[in-house]
Amino acid sequence: MAGLYGKKNKEERDFLDPIFGSTTSDHQLPKYKLNDEPVEPRIAYRIVKDQLLDEGNARENLATFCQTYMEPEADKIMAETMDKNAIDKSEYPRTAELENRCVNIIADLWHAQPNEEYMGTSTVGSSEGCMLGGLAMKFAWRQRAEKLGLDINAHKPNLVISSGYQVCWEKFATYFDIELRTVPMDEQHQSLNMDKVMDYVDEYTIGIVGIMGITYTGRYDDIAKLNDLVEEYNQTTPYKVYIHVDAASGGFYAPFMDPQIKWDFRLKNVVSINSSGHKYGLVYPGIGWILWRDKKFLPKKLIFKVSYLGGELPTMAINFSRSASQIIGQYYNFVRFGFKGYREIQRRTHNVARYLATEIAKLGYFEIVNDGAHLPIVCYKLKKDDQRQWNLYDLADRLRMKGWQVPAYPLPKDLDKIEVQRIVCRADLGMNMACDFIEDMKQSINELNKSHLVAHPTHILKKYGFTH
Ligand SMILES: *Cc1c(COP(=O)(O)O)cnc(C)c1O
Repeated sequence: MAGLYGKKNKEERDFLDPIFGSTTSDHQLPKYKLNDEPVEPRIAYRIVKDQLLDEGNARENLATFCQTYMEPEADKIMAETMDKNAIDKSEYPRTAELENRCVNIIADLWHAQPNEEYMGTSTVGSSEGCMLGGLAMKFAWRQRAEKLGLDINAHKPNLVISSGYQVCWEKFATYFDIELRTVPMDEQHQSLNMDKVMDYVDEYTIGIVGIMGITYTGRYDDIAKLNDLVEEYNQTTPYKVYIHVDAASGGFYAPFMDPQIKWDFRLKNVVSINSSGHKYGLVYPGIGWILWRDKKFLPKKLIFKVSYLGGELPTMAINFSRSASQIIGQYYNFVRFGFKGYREIQRRTHNVARYLATEIAKLGYFEIVNDGAHLPIVCYKLKKDDQRQWNLYDLADRLRMKGWQVPAYPLPKDLDKIEVQRIVCRADLGMNMACDFIEDMKQSINELNKSHLVAHPTHILKKYGFTH
């Protein structure tokens, strides 16, 4: 076949053809089965990259907690270490040591106590961390209950959590056969209700989960208060309960922004904590962490030994082979930012959240539900106005036209009459981008006020992604 350069052999063609002058780019490749012939790398790259063109710009995605920016040096070192297998401690002992350092650094941030022996591991994200935390609680509960002579099969074991839980807890309950006992949130609290929580606890309770940073609103559960309630409860019964803190977002935020808030291993009954390295730990997805305050809260049955430098190393993760580059990215950030660097980044993110909350309140249409006081998350709902023809879903669509992804959704069960829009501020949403966003929001509202809308009747809710 005569191409741009006449009748050349295939090697020459592959080398000389411009990408969009190549025969391959001119053909439709099969989508759901392998093509017969290989495709030249630069052309394959372009074809795949082009398929992703209209995905939206991650930096303008204000829906996600997950990191969308790392420094070029971080990108580089992560790309260079993609071939390392995180599980293979004997082949990659240096990588294993970096993971170990990360666990120690995090233990220090979360105030592990000197008289206890903490343990921890990296995970794929908080979801895996929550599964592990939940499993450890289940196994530890069973050991305690059997010792006390409880008929452990008479009832399903249960886990107590506020109705603002993230969906991974529902998965945990389903996969591992646990009853999820949810404490309803009310409008005053919008977090775990301390007047009610202990009513949900009994001998079959494997533990209580406190959330540092409810995904929907960014509010912190009052873990110190919960600790007191648990302490009081444990005085009255041999069936002790303990707390796991799901600090997916707060675990790398509160230690820098609110060091005075006690939510971590400073509290006696907090036995394990998970967090997402890929949220405010500032690493690309997927990396998470879970730590136990003492090895006695991690039943031995859940620990497996892998060989390591001629010796053995305990592992407790659910997943097996995966790239170590996220662990290395986390360690890079720790080295690069240090305590003060993290604090400065989070402080600026916090300022952006406060700025957005103030400016959005000034627009006059919205009532602020969460102003970024805890996590840098701004939630607002529409004020009541019978004249207005549009709703938050219409506004989300308008903003989408300008590139921004800002989800609108009803709050979780018991508060689901309230529809909110939520902005997750991340480190890479700088003040200049935030100003542009406010301008775009003003324009979008102007356009909506002038339009005759037929879309999105208020009773039909659109689902947007908001769980991560
Ligand atoms: C994001 C989140 C999770 C799940 O975390 P992944 O890192 O996405 O697996 C769990 N719990 C809470 C509170 C979260 O915000």
